[in-house]
Amino acid sequence: MTDRNTHTKVLIVGSGPAGYTAGVYASRAMLEPMLIQGIEPGGQLTTTTEVENWPGDTEVQGPDLMARMEAHARAMGTNIVHDIVTSLDLSKRPFTATCDSGAVVTADAVILATGARAKWLGLPSEEKFKGFGVSACATCDGFFYRGQEIVVVGGGNTAVEEALFLTNFASKVTLVHRRDTLRAEKILQDRLLKNPKIVTLWHHAVEEVVGTTSPLGVEAVRVKHVETGEITEIPAKGLFIAIGHAPASELVKDQLETHNGGYVKVEPGTTRTAIPGVFAAGDLTDHIYRQAVTSAGMGCMAALDAERFLAEHGEAEREDVTLPLGYGAEAPAE
Ligand SMILES: Cc1cc2nc3c(=O)[nH]c(=O)nc-3n(C[C@H](O)[C@H](O)[C@H](O)COP(=O)(O)OP(=O)(O)OC[C@H]3O[C@@H](n4cnc5c(N)ncnc54)[C@H](O)[C@@H]3O)c2cc1C
Repeated sequence: MTDRNTHTKVLIVGSGPAGYTAGVYASRAMLEPMLIQGIEPGGQLTTTTEVENWPGDTEVQGPDLMARMEAHARAMGTNIVHDIVTSLDLSKRPFTATCDSGAVVTADAVILATGARAKWLGLPSEEKFKGFGVSACATCDGFFYRGQEIVVVGGGNTAVEEALFLTNFASKVTLVHRRDTLRAEKILQDRLLKNPKIVTLWHHAVEEVVGTTSPLGVEAVRVKHVETGEITEIPAKGLFIAIGHAPASELVKDQLETHNGGYVKVEPGTTRTAIPGVFAAGDLTDHIYRQAVTSAGMGCMAALDAERFLAEHGEAEREDVTLPLGYGAEAPAE
């Protein structure tokens, strides 16, 4: 065993609101958790600007909030490691995580908090205006578009629900869909088609997001008829991409049951998966709410569930030895 191989009572995989909150709670339960941050330290909120629904902050920048959560978890004693888990063996306890750096971590309990990704169209102009008029979350950003015109793209339940929700704020919502039928449930379709604020543009795909550079902001969405190629420009201050989400469950997809397109299944009302000692929290398990505060709540639950599990197995007592910070002796940069 090299000095890059280590054992921890609780391994937290992921550094979004779920992971860091699990870190705070597990640290305060004296479990000396290790948290592996993954490719995106801080998670999805680091890709946005204003967050107005995090309790206690009327407005906070996403990256600032996540830097504070990281500092909080670290201050409580979470051993935060900048690495990526490339494989996870949950077939026996202790569980084994192998990391991109080559480090191997064994753990008595694992908290999975690897989150989810919104699917994007992949257009350069979409990338340019992300967080400045282009969004993938109506619950998060709808409030910013009060009295404005908005375009929603997609044809499934998410798109229809987002379009309906956005009518609470927008003066007009145009739903752009490349087909002439929706995949959404019939009841949602009925509500959509009856809503006087919603216009549906069939057979169209988004070509480009058009806007100003200084300040950065969306002015219109250029769409193309998929059959005739005709281009139309829809005036809009916001474009909501609602073509689905992909939970980051690749690490465990052959070991844990998933549902609704890859979300890890947990026992309702808990974070327990079907494997004793393995817990899952946040967007990875949640195809409904997908919020920072719900993810943080589940991170708390996962740490408490893990603590209970370890106590039942006589493994929750505090050890006298202090685990090294990081895999080796160096302290990670503050
Ligand atoms: C643009 C945007 C704006 C948003 N705005 C808001 C908002 O205003 N309010 C709100 O409440 N919510 C908002 N959300 C949603 C919110 O960000 C998510 O609900 C929340 O971040 C989910 O937290 P999480 O901890 O489950 O996972 P995530 O934030 O998705 O974090 C997942 C973490 O897992 C790590 N990871 C993944 N795979 C591995 C691996 N193999 N090894 C190690 N680590 C791994 C990643 O590096 C990342 O750190 C927004 C989302 C987006 C995309």
